[in-house]
Amino acid sequence: MKSYMKMSRLYAPTLKEDPTEAELASHRLLLRAGFIRKEAAGLYTYLPLAWRSIRKIEQICREEQEAIGSQEMMTPILTDGEFWHQTGRWDNYGPELMRIKDRHDREFVLGPTHEETYTALVRDELRSYKQLPVTLYHIQDKFRDELRPRFGLMRGREFIMKDAYSFSADQESLQQCYDDQKGAYARFCARCGLKALPVAADTGQIGGDTSVEYMALAEAGEAELVYCEDCGFAADTEAATAACEVTEGVAGEMRKVETPGIGTIADLAALMKVPESATRKAIALVDGDGKPWVVIVPGDHEVNDVKAEHAFGSFHMMSDEELEEYGLHKGFMGPVNLPAGVSCAADIALKGSEWWLVGANQPGYHLQSAKPGRDFEVGRWVDVITAKPGDTCPHCGKPLSGARGIECGQVFQLGTKYSASMGATFMDVDGKEKPLQMGCYGIGISRTLAAIVEQHHDEAGIVFPVSVAPYEVAVVALDAKGEVLETATDIAGRLTDAGLDVILDDRKERPGVKFAEADLMGFPYQVVIGKRGIKAGVVEVKCRETGEREDVALDGLASYLTARIVPARQGLLTE
Ligand code: ATP
Ligand code: MG
Repeated sequence: MKSYMKMSRLYAPTLKEDPTEAELASHRLLLRAGFIRKEAAGLYTYLPLAWRSIRKIEQICREEQEAIGSQEMMTPILTDGEFWHQTGRWDNYGPELMRIKDRHDREFVLGPTHEETYTALVRDELRSYKQLPVTLYHIQDKFRDELRPRFGLMRGREFIMKDAYSFSADQESLQQCYDDQKGAYARFCARCGLKALPVAADTGQIGGDTSVEYMALAEAGEAELVYCEDCGFAADTEAATAACEVTEGVAGEMRKVETPGIGTIADLAALMKVPESATRKAIALVDGDGKPWVVIVPGDHEVNDVKAEHAFGSFHMMSDEELEEYGLHKGFMGPVNLPAGVSCAADIALKGSEWWLVGANQPGYHLQSAKPGRDFEVGRWVDVITAKPGDTCPHCGKPLSGARGIECGQVFQLGTKYSASMGATFMDVDGKEKPLQMGCYGIGISRTLAAIVEQHHDEAGIVFPVSVAPYEVAVVALDAKGEVLETATDIAGRLTDAGLDVILDDRKERPGVKFAEADLMGFPYQVVIGKRGIKAGVVEVKCRETGEREDVALDGLASYLTARIVPARQGLLTE
């Protein structure tokens, strides 16, 4: 039988002061409200209130997975190092991978994600096209030795993830599994009360819609996004190929201008009295094959490392010594008269632009009206700039808006990356042995709790959406004795019988303390029981989100609350 919790017994050590180590609202409030405690860097204990919310988030995730036919199961967290050698990730994953040895010196990995485990699991037993497709998942702790574990649950070294893996016979089936997951992820976010955007993620050179990240919009988010309010396009600034408005320079013959002491684009724009977008920035790098390049981009944009790596392999920016060695001059580089051996590349945003203001490759000088094709050649057009708000949407041409986001989940079409290296093949309908087509789909359950708090809080504390609140109703007894406590206890019992998640504040505390803590912990409804109300047969109900208070007749209380809470459990479907 369901029962209610008594606040006097609840293990939720609250803090009077804001913890100094917490920069983000979610981190601060989860600590203050007694939801989490730190054990060591990136390692957190979920106290009872957090654990109740986490279980609700997991349950929403589970229901949405089951709705698309994914099957829940459980693998060990500790995974066989041998698998990681087979896929090459033992070496390639880097220091984030928590490698350990057992007493016999055998290698193991504390799983940061489980592609290897699932591929090894099915490779001997998913043998025929008749068994496909299959999607399997589990919800368990993951381990990543993050360089900078921080912001509480946001970036932990141990965290809870739902990870699903789909196995298909062909691309069409993989696409179906992937599309189903996208639907499930959108519903998951909405049901958790999250305003989230599906954004195109960086997928290396593959391109196409093969990976999407689900970004909960929040100022505190680490990811920078651009999105189009008009057509719904959204992308990580690192993945977006945004067209940008490029301002043309002066038309005419190429002319050398004296620009002594100019060190930055801002200086140059000020001196020439033009916007920064009318200048051309040049950066010098050495590509993965050791070849030197000067790369020209619009003056008001930055070169993005991730995109540059796709274009130039494992490149590095030239050091001062290398610049000197190649005969280049910092602040005065450009595409015209490049030293022998140095090639010119330019961002595709500049394609079609005719009149460039560029460095002259001579200290103290720039060139006005340099024209591609006439005054110099662009050896390669590349996509390397970081998109930013105001750039044009690649789909509909409207200006893009900017936002920050917290990555709560990501879906990925893997193809045969793991099945090929691990020998996971099946017999297709044509009698041929083929590698399985795989997809993987992760949701950060614990990070989602942090994202929810980022989006749902105010000065007084957390403002939980009903669907993920640890308790839906706090019954606050203004007196911890006599008739008031008796009535409050009776009401807590009745609301519990009506199916609601109830906590009863039966403590000998001042009402002010009780209200403040109920606000801090974020329970969606507070039912206030005092002497005066009992006499009149009413109680005051406060809605945490709106702050509205209403007197509700005692005998109609259960139906008043269930009418509001039960539908809201399905989640706030944000627009
Ligand atoms: P990030 O870019 O934030 O490091 P990721 O892209 O490496 O994350 P994935 O491999 O896509 O993460 O993992 C799936 C999900 O697990 C992420 O979308 C995120 O919600 C969650 N997650 C990843 N790393 C962490 C972490 N260190 N702490 C908490 N949650 C995490
Ligand atoms: Mg990711």
